[in-house]
Amino acid sequence: MTIFLHDTLQGKKLPFEPRKEGEVTMYLCGPTVYNYAHIGNARPAVVFDLLSRVLRCRFKLKFARNITDIDDKINQAAIDTGRSIGEVTEQYIKAYNEDMSALGVLPPDIEPHATEHVDEMIAMITTLIDKGFAYEAEGHVLFDVAANPDYGKLSKRDLREMIAGARIEVAPYKRSAQDFVMWKPSTPELPGWDSPWGRGRPGWHIECSAMAEKHLGRTIDIHGGGQDLVFPHHENEMAQSTCVHDGEPFANYWVHNGFLSMDSTKMSKSLGNVLLVRDLVKVVPGEVIRLALLSAHYRQPLNWSGETVEESRRMLDRFYGAVRGVAISDEVRAAAAPPDALLEALEDDLNTPKALAEMFALAKQINKATDAEEKAGLAASLLAAGEIMGLVKQDPEAWFAGASADDEMSADDIDALLKAREEARANRDFATADGIRDKLADAGISIEDGPDGTRWRRI
Ligand code: AMP
Ligand code: ZN
Repeated sequence: MTIFLHDTLQGKKLPFEPRKEGEVTMYLCGPTVYNYAHIGNARPAVVFDLLSRVLRCRFKLKFARNITDIDDKINQAAIDTGRSIGEVTEQYIKAYNEDMSALGVLPPDIEPHATEHVDEMIAMITTLIDKGFAYEAEGHVLFDVAANPDYGKLSKRDLREMIAGARIEVAPYKRSAQDFVMWKPSTPELPGWDSPWGRGRPGWHIECSAMAEKHLGRTIDIHGGGQDLVFPHHENEMAQSTCVHDGEPFANYWVHNGFLSMDSTKMSKSLGNVLLVRDLVKVVPGEVIRLALLSAHYRQPLNWSGETVEESRRMLDRFYGAVRGVAISDEVRAAAAPPDALLEALEDDLNTPKALAEMFALAKQINKATDAEEKAGLAASLLAAGEIMGLVKQDPEAWFAGASADDEMSADDIDALLKAREEARANRDFATADGIRDKLADAGISIEDGPDGTRWRRI
């Protein structure tokens, strides 16, 4: 069987062939660590975690997911909170890894940090200047897009049209509006490194080009990220890396996930409509969130709603219900393989809706089976499927115990608690009132006091 992957550069699904037989390299642009990850940020992490699991079934994989710990948004977060940059990045790196782990995302093989690769970035920029692809101006170093005829190919943009249509105010030191910064000067209070162009800091795009080369080589097999990164981030990474390597391709397959939206509006930090993974895992099991993120094909948009979550929970109940109470011997478990149809679906450009449908069909078969041996074999196969998908990892009894403990509080119970809170407040017993609010919050109920009394909703 051949693995198929959709490549953004060629704009179509292609049979996947690694450069070196039996070995694959994959680079995924990781988080910029100035804030907690929202559920949209979790989509690429989960999608590429699944791709890494599928690839590992056949190849020796080297998977790098970087940490962007040099960025102006981080500097701003440090200023806003009166902390050092190191404190800010350390907090959010730790939180990111905890949150992703709650969603069953396995750690990548390599997690390079930008701050540890500044020498490599300076070396790459120096070579780009020497080869005539970059120029220095007023302490900045800019990539000269006009020197690279392939610029715009990944994002299907015509450079001449871009230049003609540029309305953005052009910094006086730029030759062209499209030229992008690889190095910029730092004021004394900002983080900076000594360089041939004075004390400064790298731009975001050069960080990834340098880290990818250092850990995975000049050409990588698969480069991934969210669709929003195609332009300018990946276009610029590709320009830098191919020019510095005399035209050698940067990535053989560009894989991009679609966007997650909430109420049909793109979820983004700048729009403020974000749902943090951190908050969500308090009220929804990580596996439910993971399944919800995989419920749509990775290139399709995914609208996040209570319904998506509930459907995913029901599906997991179905999987756990099918294996609950089935005695599976260690031998049967060890010999079990996921159904061929599930592997075929995943190897066909990560067709997760089809893979989940195969798991669903298998659960149905388990429920129907009357022969104990047959039942055990099918149940072991479902668990093997879960192994790849990163689902059905818990003991079924624990799953159902957790589900009933988490079970939604009934409306009557909520009303009774709100009444008790009202009474406590009337008696100026604020400790009890606050305790009730916390109890409701723990059960995923948010409350809002208004002129007509207290209203509640499930988060
Ligand atoms: P950032 O930390 O903002 O650089 O984003 C980290 C990753 O999350 C990138 O691969 C983005 O493309 C991806 N991303 C951000 N927002 C969304 C979203 N709403 N849906 C899917 N992916 C997203
Ligand atoms: Zn990147």
